[in-house]
Parts: sequence; C-alpha cells; structure tokens
Amino acid sequence: MEVYKRTPTDKAPSDRFTGDAWWDVIYAGSEPSQARLNRVRFAPSARSDWHTHTLGQTLHIVSGVALIQSRGGEIVEAHPGDTIHTPPGEEHWHGAAPDTFMEHLALWEGTGDPRVPETDWGAKVTDEEYGGPRRSTRA
Ligand code: MN
Repeated sequence: MEVYKRTPTDKAPSDRFTGDAWWDVIYAGSEPSQARLNRVRFAPSARSDWHTHTLGQTLHIVSGVALIQSRGGEIVEAHPGDTIHTPPGEEHWHGAAPDTFMEHLALWEGTGDPRVPETDWGAKVTDEEYGGPRRSTRA
C-alpha cells in the first residue's frame, strides 16, 4: 500500500482555459498503469478550450453546475452526482455555469507512448458557444 501526499494545486493555463480554473493531481499511475485522476475547480464562467482525449475521459460532478458540450451537440447542464463520459477522440469542452463554481473529478488514461498525446487542444470556446442552448440532466 502507498499513501500519496496531497500535491500542490496548479492553475490551469490560459492557453488552454478561459477564466480561472485550478486542478489537483490525485493520481497519475506509473507503468503499467496509465490511469489519471484530477480534481478540477472552475470559477463561474470558466471553461476549458475545445479538446479531445485520445482514450476518452470520464467526468464526475462533485459540486456546483457543470456545462459540457461535444462538437455538434447541445450543452449538457450537469449536476453533482452526474457522470459524463466522452469517448476517444470526441471533441468537447467542460466548465462552470456563469453563476456558480463547479468542481469535477476527471478520469482519463495516458497512451503509454510519449509520441501520442493524452489530450489534443483546439480552439477557445467563444462566448457565443458558451451561451448556447442547454439541456439539463435534471430535465
Ligand atoms: Mn475533457
């Protein structure tokens, strides 16, 4: 058994996020594990840029109101206890609603190949995209 000490919180970089977000690395597996688990906390209106995960990603909403959108779909408004999976290569973004903080756990995997990135980053999410139509998981 191993006990991991809490790691310092890192600010999400502004070239990949809009607004203020911070993450804590909870677990980053070493070979043969490729597991990755982060806790991410977003200020109101903060969100990631558009991106894909080579092996997909699972988000578990801990607190607040999350907005998550895949390319071509409507924005999903997700709530604490909801779990949202984006499959490998599906372009998406995630962040907080405009009027509240949001915290989620993010689970994904490394590729095991340093030439193949875990995440590919794309365009910023515009205010127009961020303000688009939503459907709630509580509908
Ligand atoms: Mn993602």
